[in-house]
Amino acid sequence: MKRTITYSEMRSRRRCPYQGHLAYDELLTPRVKSPGLREGTIADQGMDALYLGVRDRGAYDEQTMLGAMYDAMAYDRKRIESSGPMMDEEWEEIDERYKLLRYLATQYVTYAREHDPFEEIITMQYVGSAPVVAPSGHVSTKYDYRFKLDGLVVIDGQLWLLENKWLKTIDDQTIRMLPLDEQCGMYMWGVRESLRRREASPVLQDAVERYGEPVGVFYNIIRKKLPVVPVQNKNGQTSQRKDIDTTAAGYRDTLAERGQDPADYAEILAILESKGDTFYHRESVLRNDRELDEIGQRIYESTRFISEDYRYKLPQKDCTWSCAYMPLCIEWSEELLTQYTHKERRHEEYEREEA
Ligand code: SF4
Repeated sequence: MKRTITYSEMRSRRRCPYQGHLAYDELLTPRVKSPGLREGTIADQGMDALYLGVRDRGAYDEQTMLGAMYDAMAYDRKRIESSGPMMDEEWEEIDERYKLLRYLATQYVTYAREHDPFEEIITMQYVGSAPVVAPSGHVSTKYDYRFKLDGLVVIDGQLWLLENKWLKTIDDQTIRMLPLDEQCGMYMWGVRESLRRREASPVLQDAVERYGEPVGVFYNIIRKKLPVVPVQNKNGQTSQRKDIDTTAAGYRDTLAERGQDPADYAEILAILESKGDTFYHRESVLRNDRELDEIGQRIYESTRFISEDYRYKLPQKDCTWSCAYMPLCIEWSEELLTQYTHKERRHEEYEREEA
């Protein structure tokens, strides 16, 4: 049976082979004292339900999205409960985070209804795999690459991978880096290879027959923050602070609620208009065959890392905040090992499919 590799494993092993060894050979995972809500998973399940509803019933239904999020949250609460006793304040914080997610979802449905360019939703959460290929063209007998797409959509008669990203901030640097986004590049490669080797699922094959192979990745970026409501000054006027973190549309809505004339707020509205929407961003990134060939080579070279069983440490400045294995890395001891648990599966992100 072939060994499965994923983007997360490749990234971990290349960042630091020792970290990759602890996480993917030893299957160690850090114990978390106060596990937080898995907000990304909850948001993803809401998105899936929303867009499957759009596909099947042609409607953007807020309740469908919120219902799926509620189910995901209830499931996650059980996971948190099973990890040990929690303080009341910790539960309150979790409830607050969930409340924010619900607000964000409600606002997103309104935004998506007006702005989505999708002609067709093919599917959501598509899981696929493809054999790793050596530069010589030989197919690996040892490794399969596995991937999970957020969705497959049709825009302007072409097939696109959909990637939903929930970010704290949407900045220029993040947007400029998207053409180099390795994770989605590897997804594109996996889709292409599974099609070429006739290992793609019928739903993907059917979509390709109708629209051709996917041309790129459509990034749907949502900020994990609500626009600030401008305060109302003592004299009744709305604050015109220039650094307010909101949108022109949100500011106008507040003026309308307060019965105030936008003409009196032309300057701040112009500033907000010029900033654009800092809460949602859509970006289409085309990928070509040459790029995908190079990415395929990167995947192959990553499997060499695993085959060679590299375990050397690669200390860098970000170890202190980005590596949960640092205590073990400094000093391996039985006592420190109690701070870690053993994963049952190497790639838990696929646990539902593998179960
Ligand atoms: S602390 Fe740094 S060197 Fe040590 S395992 Fe983590 S990433 Fe590697």
